[in-house]
Amino acid sequence: MSAVRRSLSHRVFATVFAVAMVVVAVFSLAGTAYVQSRLVSLAHEELDSQADVVRAALDSMPDDKFILRNLELGNTRITLIDTDGTVLYDTEAEADTMPNHASRPEVASAFANGRGDAERASTTLGEVMLYEAVLLENGTVVRLAQEQAGYLSILVGMLPPLAVLVALCAIVSLVAARRESRAIIEPLLEVDLDHPVRNVENAYTEMVPMLERIETQRQELKRQVRVLADNDRMRREFTANITHELKTPLTAISGYAELISSGMVSDEADQRDFAHRIFNEAGRLTALVNDILTLSNLDEAERDEAGSSSDSVLGTREPVDLPRTLDTVYHRLETVADVNGVTLSVKPQRAIVLGVPRLLDELVYNLASNAIRYNKPDGSVTMRCGMEDGAPFISVEDTGIGIAPEEQEKVFERFYRVDKSRSKERGGTGLGLAIVKHAAVFHDATISVDSALGEGTTITVRFPAGDQELGELF
Ligand code: ADP
Repeated sequence: MSAVRRSLSHRVFATVFAVAMVVVAVFSLAGTAYVQSRLVSLAHEELDSQADVVRAALDSMPDDKFILRNLELGNTRITLIDTDGTVLYDTEAEADTMPNHASRPEVASAFANGRGDAERASTTLGEVMLYEAVLLENGTVVRLAQEQAGYLSILVGMLPPLAVLVALCAIVSLVAARRESRAIIEPLLEVDLDHPVRNVENAYTEMVPMLERIETQRQELKRQVRVLADNDRMRREFTANITHELKTPLTAISGYAELISSGMVSDEADQRDFAHRIFNEAGRLTALVNDILTLSNLDEAERDEAGSSSDSVLGTREPVDLPRTLDTVYHRLETVADVNGVTLSVKPQRAIVLGVPRLLDELVYNLASNAIRYNKPDGSVTMRCGMEDGAPFISVEDTGIGIAPEEQEKVFERFYRVDKSRSKERGGTGLGLAIVKHAAVFHDATISVDSALGEGTTITVRFPAGDQELGELF
């Protein structure tokens, strides 16, 4: 079912018309009440003076009935009542058919005080009968009565002009609604939604928050478009880089394999050498594929907001004992350090992080492996962990070649290497620090690089302070 679209013009019409109707109703009701009370009081005055005239006439002549029969007082009814309340004469009915009038308030009051008046509702339309009675010199009472239009009958009488007024109001409201809604809409239509803040000065005050919100959303949209464009560019670069990085070892492998299979390498020592090269290149390929997979999982975990929950594609978050992680990495890299002539040492202090063990292991491994590979002969690498200002940290310090200040941010980009040939020669994939960066982000940790060319590098990863409470679990 489609929603009924509301029109502004309709709403304005309904409001204007309703206001007009309320005004018409209030004025009609109040006006009718006023007119009716004015008519009643005028009729009272008229009856009053007519009563004086009738009394003067009756008191001055002996034959009351004769005078009354010949009196012309418009629509005023006259009744002559004897001292005991019996009706002696009535201008509109047979006197002997009428009941005793002694108890009528106006008559009783006239007998008692010489004059009396009363007012009684007569019909359903609210007509009222007005009475004025006066005592005559001979002890009888003459009563004058007049019917006066009631509240309802006046109102009913006003209906035709009221209907015309309502119709007129409807027409005026319609025209006013059309004009008003057009006038209201005009400033809204003039708003340039591409530059909403420019319109703030000319807009209605009520529109300002909306215009400001549109502007904020516009800016946010622009920012998101930029981020999307950046992401797209990075994705395309990454794909191009991966293809290139995968191709290099594959070309080497197929080249060596072709040489061997064509029988061109007959010498057994050469064959072994080529097989060894194939083995090395395959190893590089495996390392590369593993790093790409880890990064892709990290990307997925970041996109999918489960990254902040306990489960993700990378594994389950659990309390990880950092000294134990450092120890594992130490044992894996001990020989590599030896081969490179570098002294590897661990200085662990109690620290626990809520994280994914495999990722934290990879983070430490990549930092330590770089520290060994980009070191100098007889250099040293120290892995540390502990608590600093209530927050767990891991740091890897080396006495290696160092990273120039302008390179310190770039080295965390995918496939960025300061010295490409040295990286390849040392078995690097160009993805180690990118994995470190994303693994840190995944754990809400920050990374800081402290490095000087030719002197060495210290990379520190600081975890959020909340994790210290985990220490109490152990
Ligand atoms: P790679 O596989 O090439 O080591 P990484 O992403 O781990 O890739 O590192 C990127 C680049 O940063 C390296 O090629 C190297 O030039 C530089 N780098 C990383 N760690 C260190 C370090 N401890 N000392 C000096 N340079 C480093």
